[in-house]
Amino acid sequence: MTGGAQASRTVLAVSLVVLIATTALGVLLWQRAPALLGAAPPAPADVATAPLRLPPDVPDPGGYVHLLTGDDGAPVRWDPCRPVHVVVRPQGEPPGGRAAVETALARVGEASGLVFVVDGETDEAPTTTRALTDPARYGARWSPVLVAWSDAGEYPPLQGGAVGVAGPAADPAADRLSWVSGTVVLDAVWFADNLPQELGSRRAGAVLSHELAHLVGLGHSADPFSLMSPTYQSVYGFSLSDQAGLASLGGGACLPG
Ligand SMILES: [Zn+2]
Repeated sequence: MTGGAQASRTVLAVSLVVLIATTALGVLLWQRAPALLGAAPPAPADVATAPLRLPPDVPDPGGYVHLLTGDDGAPVRWDPCRPVHVVVRPQGEPPGGRAAVETALARVGEASGLVFVVDGETDEAPTTTRALTDPARYGARWSPVLVAWSDAGEYPPLQGGAVGVAGPAADPAADRLSWVSGTVVLDAVWFADNLPQELGSRRAGAVLSHELAHLVGLGHSADPFSLMSPTYQSVYGFSLSDQAGLASLGGGACLPG
């Protein structure tokens, strides 16, 4: 998401294109990364036989976009019967950054029904070719979602005015695609500037919610009143359409594996 409300229209338009391209490319890269992968890890101990909780029962006006759909047209989603594990790289984290991430995780978890669990901290650096498993760092399981504070020098998708870039990752070897990992990368300087201000902290919360909705599997919306608009539009809460999209991704039956 871009954050420059003061930026010119030209810059915003360019950023919009860059960000859409980044999201699509990110998904593709993550899908292809598991040449490094081998077999899927065993089912974790915390997988349940029923959804951990249900998404809210909200009206569905349509208008939302799923990042990826299967051959049957159903959205690619996370397994609602296991928690989504998250680790945070603390390097460069601005004051208040962790609390803002946790607040947004709770907000997006509630809207989708998914249960996010922050496992702790990591020293892993974000890359666009992240492997889906990293046994040395995380054991025999899918790599947890990585949340990292960074800049365009370390993480080039942040170039072009993006203040956050996020996406889920699927195992392409699975019979049916599902999201099993993901990355959320946040511009450390932009958040450090915004979090201390009252309006800025609301803006930061909106950006975090936008990025975490990508992580859940929601794409960009052309509706300027949607929080999923690719550019910052002074919108702080999920629209009815956004809420329906999140609920459509966090519900449903358990996924195999
Ligand atoms: Zn976005």
